[in-house]
Amino acid sequence: MFDSVVHSRSVAPNAGLRTVEKVAEAKLPTDVGEFRLIGYRSLTSDEEFVVLAQGEIDAHRPTLARIHSQCLTGDAFGSTKCDCGQQLKSAMKLIADEGQGAIVYQQQEGRGIGIINKIRAYALQDEGADTIEANERLGLAVDLRRYEQCAEILCDLGFRRVRLISNNPDKISAMKKFGLEVVERVPLEIKFYRSLIRYLSTKRKQMGHLIRLPEDEYERTAEPGLQTI
Ligand SMILES: [Zn+2]
Repeated sequence: MFDSVVHSRSVAPNAGLRTVEKVAEAKLPTDVGEFRLIGYRSLTSDEEFVVLAQGEIDAHRPTLARIHSQCLTGDAFGSTKCDCGQQLKSAMKLIADEGQGAIVYQQQEGRGIGIINKIRAYALQDEGADTIEANERLGLAVDLRRYEQCAEILCDLGFRRVRLISNNPDKISAMKKFGLEVVERVPLEIKFYRSLIRYLSTKRKQMGHLIRLPEDEYERTAEPGLQTI
């Protein structure tokens, strides 16, 4: 499938059994700068991962990293039902501005339910269900994503101290479980489209995501989750 094999260099801090391997690397010029495009594949499933990276990763220096879960509608079509596309673009800009960091792009569309089920869930949302109710009415898990292999990839790239670009506490825990030190959580600037507010509010209330919404300017109630990091 791939033309060349690039052997991975370092061993992850808690690596017992390696579960991913680096298989290809090339340059990718983009509208925010040039990245290295690195392909990994899972040794335990048919999942493939793509990394966008800039600069040399220094284990001692806290470095920007993001695990981005594939969202075709947001990443490619500019959907305003979710903030995925905005987050991906902002993270790329942030890393390009620093000249250092990496995004691990995992192919777990629709929080792991796949694009067809995601369209089914959107149809229920059109009728009034929120993002969680829609999955439940379809008999699907709310979130099937796992991040361990993404953390393993960051270790393999040389990361040890991470400035994690994420609102998702599960991603923060996955990093820590894998022996990566999360020294900072870096929030992203998001435009709050009307169609986005309910989705973000549900993710915050029911999935514990660390999201600041425009209404926070008016409500100064302390939510424990917001002070986690
Ligand atoms: Zn999305």
